Amino acid sequence: MRIEVISLFPEWVEQVARHGMPRIAVEVGALSLHARDLRDSSGNRWRRVDDRPYGGGPGMVMEAEPLTAAVAAAKRSLGGAPRVVLMSPQGERFDQRWAERLAQEQSLILLCGRYEGLDERFVQAEVDFELSLGDFVLSGGELAAMVVIDAVARLLPGVLGHAQSAENDSFSNGLLDHPHYTRPETWRGQAVPEVLLSGDHARIARWRLKQALGQTWLKRPDLLEGIELDDEARTLLGEFISEQRVNG
Ligand code: SAH
Repeated sequence: MRIEVISLFPEWVEQVARHGMPRIAVEVGALSLHARDLRDSSGNRWRRVDDRPYGGGPGMVMEAEPLTAAVAAAKRSLGGAPRVVLMSPQGERFDQRWAERLAQEQSLILLCGRYEGLDERFVQAEVDFELSLGDFVLSGGELAAMVVIDAVARLLPGVLGHAQSAENDSFSNGLLDHPHYTRPETWRGQAVPEVLLSGDHARIARWRLKQALGQTWLKRPDLLEGIELDDEARTLLGEFISEQRVNG
């Protein structure tokens, strides 16, 4: 997958591919990331890309023309028909479903706003959709773009060591992940759940599903409303809930 980011801080955005899964994605050839400096498309020798808002008020607004030129350059470099995505607090909430959807794309253009935002005429004309990290306002779209790149990169083929590990992650099956344990076997007097030492893979799988259902029920009951549980899952959740009542 090829991603072009348009930003006033391209060196910062490119850092996301220096560590962790995005770095592995680049190394295995699953991802290529290029961040483009919007000022290179300013069209003026002062490299100015913003101006004061019509109607008055504080702050600056990013001008349509440099953005259009930068998107055109990114499209030329990518070829094909990449989606143009604006990072924006007004966008649809970015979640695992969105990460999975974007991971299917051949190429993407991510736009990072700054100041008060972008000239609305450009947004209407050139942006395919807007994505938000949540109901808060960042000072720029760069961190948001980096979050999207990280979440997408780890889903690209060949990136995670064990493909299975993405399938068990929170949200991938509509549930939160089960709890994890590593050595030592006893820590502060607390032993690891016995089933995990049993070597019985079927029992372990059943325990993990039960815990995933239980953690979701405890922490994010809203997620359970969105999914259809089969008979086994309903039984396991019932067991988890009655064990909670006994223990709690
Ligand atoms: N005045 C705008 C906010 C501008 S913040 C408004 O209220 O809608 C400057 C830039 O930061 C935005 O253009 C956007 O690219 C980015 N940004 C801010 N909050 C964000 C969020 N929650 N998710 C994604 N991008 C965000």
